[in-house]
Amino acid sequence: MSTSNRPQDSLLRRVIAVLLQRCPRCLQGHVFHGLVAMHETCPRCGCQFGREPGYFTGAMFASHTLAVPILFVIFMVLWHFFANTWPLTFNLLVTFVVFLPFVPIIFRYSRVIWMHVDYQLDPNSPQRQG
Ligand SMILES: [Zn+2]
Repeated sequence: MSTSNRPQDSLLRRVIAVLLQRCPRCLQGHVFHGLVAMHETCPRCGCQFGREPGYFTGAMFASHTLAVPILFVIFMVLWHFFANTWPLTFNLLVTFVVFLPFVPIIFRYSRVIWMHVDYQLDPNSPQRQG
C-alpha cells in the first residue's frame, strides 16, 4: 500500500499548495504572476480560477479572518508601548498605516484559500474546467 494516498498526505499537500499560492486542482500551477495580478487559468492544468463574475466575493470571508488578528496584534503592540503618549484615535490611525504592507499578502492568501475551499466543496464544477 502506497503511503502517498493517505488522507493526511493529501491534506498536507493541499496546505503546502495554499502556503505556496498554487492551483487548487493540480496543486502546482502558480495562481499569481504579479503582486496582485492573477492568471485567469492555471498555467499547468488550465483550471479556470475565477469561475463566474463575483466569484471572489467569497474571498472576503478569508480576508476578514486573516486581517482581524493582524490588526488586533498591531493595535495591542502599539498600545502597549505608546498608551501613555498617544491618544486612542492616533493609535488606531498608526495601526492602519502599519497594516498597509499586509494588504497585498492578505489579498493573495484570501483568494487562494477561497479557491481551495471552493474546490474541496465542488471539485467537478463545469465552470472550472479549462
Ligand atoms: Zn493547475
